[in-house]
Amino acid sequence: WPDCHHNKLSHDQLRQIIFDTPSSQRAEEWSRYYTAGPHLAGKNLSQALWTQTKWEQFGINAEINTYDVYINYPKDHRLALLKKKDEKDGISTWEVSFEASLEEDIIEEDPTSGLQDRIPTFHGYSASGNVTAPVVYVNYGTYQDFEDLLKANVPLEGKIAIARYGGIFRGLKVKRAQELGMVGVILYSDPGDDGDVTDEKGVKTYPDGPARQPSSVQRGSTQFLSVAPGDPTTPGYPSKPGAPRQPVHTAIPSIPSIPISYVDALPILKALNGHGPKAADFNQWWTRNAGLGYKGVDYNVGPTPDHVVVNLYNEQDYVTTPLWNVIGVINGTIPDEVIVVGNHRDAWVAGGAGDPNSGSAVFNEVIRSFGEALRLGWKPLRTIVFASWDGEEYGLIGSTEWVEEYLPWLKDAIVAYVNTDVGCRGKFLTASAAPLLNQIIYEATKSVPSPNQTIAGQSVYDVWDKKIRTMGSGSDFTAFQDFAGIPSVDIGFNNDIHSAVYHYHSNYDSFHWMEKFGDPGFVYHRTMAQIFGLIVAQLADLPIIQFGAKDYAVALNSYVDKVEGKLEAILSPIEFATSSLVDDEEAIFEMRASQRNTSSLVNSSKKDSPNLPALKFKKSLKGLHKVIGKFKKQAKKLDEAAEELRLELADNDIPWWNLPAKFKLWHRIRSVNTKYKLLERSFLYDQGLDGRPWFKHVVFAPGLWTGYSGAVFPGLVESIDVEDWTNARRWVDIIESRIKNAAKAIGEHK
Ligand code: GLU
Ligand code: CA
Ligand code: ZN
Ligand code: ZN
Repeated sequence: WPDCHHNKLSHDQLRQIIFDTPSSQRAEEWSRYYTAGPHLAGKNLSQALWTQTKWEQFGINAEINTYDVYINYPKDHRLALLKKKDEKDGISTWEVSFEASLEEDIIEEDPTSGLQDRIPTFHGYSASGNVTAPVVYVNYGTYQDFEDLLKANVPLEGKIAIARYGGIFRGLKVKRAQELGMVGVILYSDPGDDGDVTDEKGVKTYPDGPARQPSSVQRGSTQFLSVAPGDPTTPGYPSKPGAPRQPVHTAIPSIPSIPISYVDALPILKALNGHGPKAADFNQWWTRNAGLGYKGVDYNVGPTPDHVVVNLYNEQDYVTTPLWNVIGVINGTIPDEVIVVGNHRDAWVAGGAGDPNSGSAVFNEVIRSFGEALRLGWKPLRTIVFASWDGEEYGLIGSTEWVEEYLPWLKDAIVAYVNTDVGCRGKFLTASAAPLLNQIIYEATKSVPSPNQTIAGQSVYDVWDKKIRTMGSGSDFTAFQDFAGIPSVDIGFNNDIHSAVYHYHSNYDSFHWMEKFGDPGFVYHRTMAQIFGLIVAQLADLPIIQFGAKDYAVALNSYVDKVEGKLEAILSPIEFATSSLVDDEEAIFEMRASQRNTSSLVNSSKKDSPNLPALKFKKSLKGLHKVIGKFKKQAKKLDEAAEELRLELADNDIPWWNLPAKFKLWHRIRSVNTKYKLLERSFLYDQGLDGRPWFKHVVFAPGLWTGYSGAVFPGLVESIDVEDWTNARRWVDIIESRIKNAAKAIGEHK
């Protein structure tokens, strides 16, 4: 323990620096830099080096960390509507009735929209292919949407799907279409899903107003995210040069897909008019937000007749290429208590002002603030690792490979992972986190004033809905939370249905959009940097780790309640067919999910036979509550021991650097901290989830058919979904053993 004679800072002083340092002007400057040109994964070395240099200027040592990863770059594409003109002697002649532009408009006042080297519209990990077939409208392309189509006997095999974006991760739409024998997928952005801010409602379109620019296209990855993220050729181990490579067919699509604008979608959707059932014949889910009626779309599902077909041609160049994470480190005094903080740097488009560079700008301000604290004599207690990830967009590659490489160290030493992806795309805070971190998020948001001062003095906490979601996927926390069992948080300012439309993964996610509509003055960027910095400061600088073990127990009980609710629905079958009772998007998704999961039972109970196995199984969940009860007792004890230590330190006013000398006290502190640190790891199950062994956490995983939104007790819930009661029982046992394990880990008193 070095004896320091220089000026040391108290925790409050550190907080003050972290709060005072971030500036809107600087955030704007970083944003301007990052959004000035293309920075796709594997093509952003100059930005990696720039980031490294900046961090070093801020006083943080930084290195470049590379992997050789398998990804695709776009080569060529075409989408056209063909009509049969004539058939003579068995030879048909076709005419092109519509040729999609597959381009976003160049807007003069938005310079990056017109760059020579702007990125074409394409899907990450999409398959090359050239297919011509009738087209079917599949709504959002959720699992249940496809079920509805099958039930209505709409032919899918051999057809091309057109789906609107939204709801679930896009790769899972392609996955299900492929499983059902469809040969290609078109994804478009329906303006009906843009909330109140639409052309139809008289709102001007970007750049003249906040509504969607009609030619905007959402690029994005179509990997099968819920199976495993990361480089698809190296599941579970790092993509170092020379590493063995696995076949990719279970991880990425084998049918081609293409993203388009609603302008390009219109002629295809109109070609469906009059063919097959209408969306309105299904249920409200199908017509909800379907927003192109005013443009003459009737939303028939089709298929189009055989003489009206779509030609979808997609050519991708697959390469194995280096990508670059930037890893900065502040060395703490305790070697085995580490906080990792991250944000991705790669973007689909030249701009990426929201995704991810609002986060990157915020992140740089946070790092600059910690550099400032070091300069002023702050003595770091825990090690902080800052990571600027590459390859997030293709499939969380940079972060996943890094976690896979350093797994043993991470499992031993990491206390928490803190992520921001889109740091700012609107004014509404959204957070998802492991329950252990709830208190830290509340505390940080309470300490930062909201830019919204309609009530003077209100904090971000005051204007927030205070919902902390469970961890799903779709950003770089996934490998930390689900593979390594590290409690993680993901946080950012989001838009709502009244906000300027966020042009996600489009050329119009640009600096100009951000400056004009997203965050004029970059005030939310600054606020985000303060919140983010304070979360890191609390995690890294408080002698007693500020976790809430009891919060975890409370959450576990609520998850069991959820499972019980699901069984309840199975036992008392109600037709959940319409969504009139719920207008909240999340609630609708849950309803749709439960509808899917109960549909077969709804049928069986129509025969009036009680579902005995389900009933019996429900009773067995009592045991789970009991085990959680025991865990809760230990969790409370741990939180109390932590609180006692906090009071003791406050009373005696001992700075942490004097603690190791107080041997007994220090031992108690280390013991509490180690328990907190290792608690989340207790929930890992080595064999992983059924059919997706990369996912090791028994409490959290991305939903099998949602991707973005999280499932709780995924192994158990998926078994119930297919009514495999034996496997469900097995999962109850696994979960019980993990919770017992956790109780033991935090209960041992040495
Ligand atoms: N943020 C990326 C997306 O939503 C993640 C891609 C992925 O996880 O594969 O497209
Ligand atoms: Ca890997
Ligand atoms: Zn992102
Ligand atoms: Zn993205």
